Formats: sequence, C-alpha cells, structure tokens
Amino acid sequence: MNASGHTPMMQQYLAIKAEYPDMLLFYRMGDFYELFYGDAERAAKLLDITLTQRGASAGTPIKMAGVPYHAAENYLAKLVKLGESVAICEQVGDPATSKGPVERKVMRIITPGTLTDAALLDDRTDSVLLSIAVHENSIGLAWLNLANGEFRLRQCATAHLQSELERIRPAEIVMGEGHAHLISAHNKVSVKRLADWQFNFDSAYKALTQQFQTRDLAGFGCEECHAAVAAAGALLGYVKHTQRVALPHVQGLVLESESEFVILDSATRRNLEISETLRGETEPTLLSLLDTTRTSMGSRRMRHWLHHPLRDVSTLRLRHDAIRVLIGEPGRHRYDDLRETLKTIVDIERITARIALGNARPRDLSGLRASLAAEPVLARLMAILDSPRITALSHSIRIDPNIESLLRRALQDEPASVIREGGVIRDGYDATLDELRSIQTDSGQFLLDLETRERARTGIANLKVEYNRVHGFYIEVSQSNAGKVPDDYRRRQTLKNAERYITPELKIFEDKALSANDRALAREKFLYEELLEQLLPHIAPLQRAASAIAELDVLCALAERAVALNYAVPELSNERVIEIETGRHPVVEKTIDHFIGNDTSLSSTRQMLLITGPNMGGKSTYMRQTALITLLAYCGSFVPADRARIGAIDRIFTRIGSADDLAGGRSTFMVEMTEAANILHNATPNSLVLLDEIGRGTSTFDGLALAWAIAKQLTEKNQSLTLFATHYFELTRLAQEHKQIANVHLEVVEHQSQIVFLHSVKDGPASQSYGVQVAQMAGDPARVIRSERQKLKQLEDSAVTRGGQADLFAGPEIVMTPEPALHPVVEALENIDPDELTPKAALELLFAWRKLLGQ
Ligand code: ADP
Repeated sequence: MNASGHTPMMQQYLAIKAEYPDMLLFYRMGDFYELFYGDAERAAKLLDITLTQRGASAGTPIKMAGVPYHAAENYLAKLVKLGESVAICEQVGDPATSKGPVERKVMRIITPGTLTDAALLDDRTDSVLLSIAVHENSIGLAWLNLANGEFRLRQCATAHLQSELERIRPAEIVMGEGHAHLISAHNKVSVKRLADWQFNFDSAYKALTQQFQTRDLAGFGCEECHAAVAAAGALLGYVKHTQRVALPHVQGLVLESESEFVILDSATRRNLEISETLRGETEPTLLSLLDTTRTSMGSRRMRHWLHHPLRDVSTLRLRHDAIRVLIGEPGRHRYDDLRETLKTIVDIERITARIALGNARPRDLSGLRASLAAEPVLARLMAILDSPRITALSHSIRIDPNIESLLRRALQDEPASVIREGGVIRDGYDATLDELRSIQTDSGQFLLDLETRERARTGIANLKVEYNRVHGFYIEVSQSNAGKVPDDYRRRQTLKNAERYITPELKIFEDKALSANDRALAREKFLYEELLEQLLPHIAPLQRAASAIAELDVLCALAERAVALNYAVPELSNERVIEIETGRHPVVEKTIDHFIGNDTSLSSTRQMLLITGPNMGGKSTYMRQTALITLLAYCGSFVPADRARIGAIDRIFTRIGSADDLAGGRSTFMVEMTEAANILHNATPNSLVLLDEIGRGTSTFDGLALAWAIAKQLTEKNQSLTLFATHYFELTRLAQEHKQIANVHLEVVEHQSQIVFLHSVKDGPASQSYGVQVAQMAGDPARVIRSERQKLKQLEDSAVTRGGQADLFAGPEIVMTPEPALHPVVEALENIDPDELTPKAALELLFAWRKLLGQ
C-alpha cells in the first residue's frame, strides 16, 4: 500500500507492516493491540472478534479489529495453534513528549515453530521448526526444537519428503520460495517462504561454525551434506530474526542417518495409530495407552521413542534391562518411589531454553530450584539400581549444587509471577535492594520520630507529620499556632484552619522515599537479569540433566505399564525372524473383555502368511499386533505377548484399509497402488510388510490379479517378512507353489446359520467367507440378506459348473482354473519403475489402464 496521503500514524503502521508481510501485526494502541486492513479481516475470522471500520486514511476506510492487551496471550495461543505467526509491536516512545505518533517497535515475533513461552506451548508435544533445502534430486532437512536446543540434520531423496514430514511433524517449515510447492496443503503446516539465496551453502557453513564456535563442521559429520547444511544455515538465520537474541543453548548438530531407525513410512505411522487414531484423535492410541510418564519432558520423550524405533540392539538391550531392574520384585516395584519424586519435577528442559533466551520468568526459576532439590533424592534411588543405563543417567542428573543454593539465596520462596512488579528477589541477597526496601518500610518510624522531634522543637503539641498523594509529605500546624513555626519551615499549602509546611529534612526524606520504590523495582530487575546471566554457564549440564530425567521417566513408565498390562521382555535376535507366542494387540485388548492371544511365526523359510477369514474375524487386528509388538520391541519397551523373539527388522510397511486421499487428489485405488508401489520398491528381506485387502479398490479380476502379482513379487524378489490378509480366496493356492508362503485363517464356527468369531489364528486357509452372515449381524435388512443368499448360491453353482474362479466366496472344494495369464495391466505394472515416472506420466498410465479395463 502506498503510504503517501495516509495519516502519520497509518504511515508508521504501514512502514512496520511492510517488514512483516506474511505475519499478523499486533499494533499497540493504549490498552489494545489493533490489527488493520487484511490482518484485521483475517484475525476477526480466526479469533471470532469484531471487525470494525474507523475513519479513513488515504481515502480508504480503515478496517480494524483489536484484542485487549491483558488478554493477548490467549489470543496468541489460539493463533499459533492455527499455524499463524504474529509480530508484536509495542509503544516504546513516551506519549507525553513525542510529536506525532509515539515511537513503536516490533519487540517479539511469535511463530508456530519457534515458541518457547510456556503459555503458548503444549506441554506434551514438541514444537519443531523444519528447514528444507532442495539440491537436484535430494533434499536437505534441518530441524530445531528451540524449546530444548535440539538441532538435527538429515539428507535424503526427494521421494522421502512426505514420510520425513510425518516423522518430524514440524509446527512450521521454512523453505526457498522456488520449492514451496513441494509441501502439499494437506500437511496443515505453516510454510514460510524465504528467498532462495538464504539457502546458500557457504554462508550457512559460516553461520553454523560461528554459532557452535568451531573451526569447521567435521566434528558433526556433516561436511558432505551440502543441502542439509544449507537448510540449517537458513534455519538459524530465521530463528535469530524471530528471537532477536543469541541462542546459547543451541550448541551442536546431530546428523541422522537412515540406518539409525527402523523406518516407518507415512502410511505405517498412521495405520498403527501410534499417537493419533485414523480419525485424528489422540485416544485410544499406543501413546495414550503407554504414556503414564510423570513429567512433561518424559511425555514428549515417550512420543519420540514410539515414533523412532531404534536399530541399535545394544541400546535397546540396555533399555530392556533398565525396565527389568525398575520392575524389581512383585509387591516392591522399584519405579514407585522414583515416580513419586519425578512428579515434583518441572519442565527443566524448556525452562533451560528460556534461561538461555533470557525470557525465563521468576516462577520458572523457583520451579527449577525445587526440582534441583529433588535431584539428590532421585540420585539416591537410582544408586541402588543395578542397571548400566540407569547409572549413566544418574551421572547426567548430577547438577552443580551451587545453582540450587544461588537460587535459594536470590529468590523469594514464592516469587511474583512477573519481575515488573517486584517481589521476586529475597531480602539479604543484595545490600542496595535491602536499603531501598528499608526506606519504604522504615518510613513510618521515621515520620513518627520526626513528629516527636518537631513537637519538642516548636512546642506545638498538635503538630502532625503526614502524607498525601497530591502534595507529598508535609507538617501540618493549626492556624492558631502558625506564628510559632521556625524559619526553616516553607509553606506548602494553606487550608481554612491549618497551614502545611515542608522542611529541608522532610524534603530529602520525601525524595528518597518516593524514588525508593522505583529504584527498588529497577534494582530487582537488574538483579534478576544478572541471575539469569549467572545461570548461562550451566545451560549444557541442565540440558543433559533434563534429558536424563526425561529418559528415566519414560523407562519408569514403561516398567509400570509392563507390570500393569502384563508385558514380557522381548528377545532381540540377529536372524530374520518374528516369533511371537500369544501376542496381543495392546490397544484393542483394552477395549474388549476377552482378547484371544495369537502366535505369529515368520522366518526366512516362512516368509509370508496369507491370512484368510471372514470380515470381522480379526485379520487386521492380528496383523497390526504383530507390527506393534515389533515396534515396541524396537523402542526398548516390553511387549504384549507371553514370549517374543524379534529379528533384525529395518523397516515396517503397511498397506491397510482403503482411504481416499481426497485432499491430495488421489482416489482410493490410486492411494492403494501408490502405497503398494512404494513397498515393492523399498521393502528388503529384513522388512516387515503388512498388506490388507490389496486390490479391493478395483474390479474383482483386476484386484485379484494385482494381489496375486504383488504377493509373488514380495515373496520372490523382495523376500520380506509379510502378513498378507486377503478376501481373494484364490490366493491361498500360492502356498502350494511357494514353500515360503503359509496359509493361516481366523477361526469361526457356524451355529444355526449364525457365525461365532473365535478370533484365534489357525493353520491352513479359511473354508468360506461368511460375508452374508456378517452383513446379517451388522443389521442389513432381511430382504437384502435373502437376496444376497440367493445370489451367492447362483454364483457358487455357476462357479462349480463352469469350473471358473468367479467369486470371492468359493470354498476349497471348488475346482480352480490354472494360474490366470497375467492381465495386461499387471504386466504393465510389473514393467514400470515408479521412481522414474513423472506424476503426469503416472496419471496418463492410470487413464490408459482404466481404458484397458473398459471403464
Ligand atoms: P477383520 O480385519 O478380519 O475384518 P478386525 O481385525 O477388524 O477383523 O477385528 C474385528 C473385531 O474383532 C475387532 O474390533 C475386535 O473387537 C475383535 N477382535 C479381533 N481380534 C480379536 C482377538 N484376538 N480377540 C478378541 N477379539 C478380537
């Protein structure tokens, strides 16, 4: 907007707004933050506040909306939750002396990925800022959790972007404007576009070495990761711009490598309902079941562990061992006392970050003090536990006792919540502050003394020393005694019956007393800032302690859960094996009365289980429980089974359920095929693959052909450990051709044309599908059921007479045709390499295939 012709205030506003075009600008006017023009319209909609119009500037009416200053935090919290960023502009000049509009300045910038303020952050989730740099076919990722200083890097193929987004779950993304289209809208994350030059490698390298005060980046192992370093540099620049302070708690980088974690692709993360149900709720999920942590640090760590299963078996064994030791003996569980103490510990991690950024509040520090006092208790309880991991953690938890004693000396027991109004620093900590405070408290006595002395000096018995806000201190003498006052009395005010005076002594006292309050507040503020500075050298040990407490909390919670839910320690093996005895689905078993445990056995000689059985028989539950038990074992947790031996798994893939990705513009079938293609391209012999009802999204023959081809490919080429649930009964024949494939089924019994699900997994294929019975149980109208039965009979008869494999319901007695010639679509599918295809070419292929299918 052109500033000419605007009122001076609007000119000022527009100049500031021009610096923050992609943020809402909160512009302070008296007791309100006002928003104007487009910002006002947007905020009115998002916050449900009134949009008004006042006057006009440069001929255009000014749209405005405002929020009261004292309630701003609530509105800010709402806005950042919605992914908005806000620049907060304060009045910094003195309204009394300024000509024209008061000077204003942006003092604080709030963005979803750079939050550190307790009021704006969710206790139990991390808020992460991700930066993405694109270099040809690879992307560099750098992400920072400002609230604990954790800074990580990763470089990978562009194709992995989506699964990395689902893993890292950033609250905000920064990327070059030329590449912002790579983030599709359904990621629902705020994307800030930076100029592409901000992702320059050389300047990034310099910025990072300056930040970490190192000569080069070799120590972090990321010298070669140009894209990731570029991303990290841009990120650092952005955070410094928004925070406007140094970031002393960001002290290094960690380069993540692909082999560090068991990889979960994005579909798997969703399907296994780790921290969110398929409907987007937070309960019931694996996290909601297991998270009985006592601190918010622990809760965030638990979420991180569940999303980052590790491949390093020695770390996992240390965790399993720690959990075993924490459980101790029945009736005397070691974790109980630890958890009682953990309950009293505040969010040291985030408080430490706020200390580093200079915005810790007094109650942050008093909370820290109380938590540090609990540290020796934790240390004592940990010392008696014979677990190497717990011993290592107890070393990190040890914090210099001087911090606690400094905080004890400096801070009052219950400090005020903000430093502005004082009441934070303890008496006796600073002589100057004590003196300023004593002036205030001693003034009463001084005035009484003065009164006594002046009465004696003047002989005026009813002389009074008093104070009022308008005239300050004065000595009041009745008119009849006015003649007796000494020469050093100066008249201040004349009343009807009395005269009021001031003396040089009283004037000196007055100056001192009135300014003492202001000076005391300023002194307290100074001392508080000094205190924060004294804590700066302790940032790194405090971060280490916070991290150790978080881990201890997670281990205690996992131990408590293992006891409460009757979990067993899994055995980790180097072989390609998943051997589970009486495994259970951790979440489903909590929702029903009697869960039937089932065994799973997969190995190099028994690679694939083809799972058949009626709908509702328990196929999905069985497959998911196998994946969840594997996942839990690789997080270091105990598992819901009597016994489990889990071998070296590198990835878990799932293709479960049919969901349209309408937001992403893909049909059910397209989603299904994309996910299947992803699996066929990336699954290794060490991968665990779950496929449920593949081929369902298209016509029967097509679907069957696809499912057939995919099962064969997985067995022969990928050789992955696979659970393959299918309603295509014909597939069960694969077991005859491949000795690595075994049939299992979910058992049911039929009773008076009703079926009873036994939910137990048995060897061999199912005998029939019971689709009609399930429909009946689900309450389909009787007329529909009758006609379904008739049609089924017809189909079955024609299948038998034609020897065809026409339907889904054929039992084993039905004669099968020889293996069908490959459908042209399947053949085509076999011969393409999706990695080589452009999206456009893929779409064209899809249309061509549909034509082939006559649709
Ligand atoms: P399918 O995939 O075969 O259609 P599901 O796995 O969705 O069946 O299971 C359907 C329902 O059956 C579940 O919601 C659960 O209530 C119940 N169920 C599944 N497995 C078991 C089991 N092992 N023990 C008890 N109930 C089970």
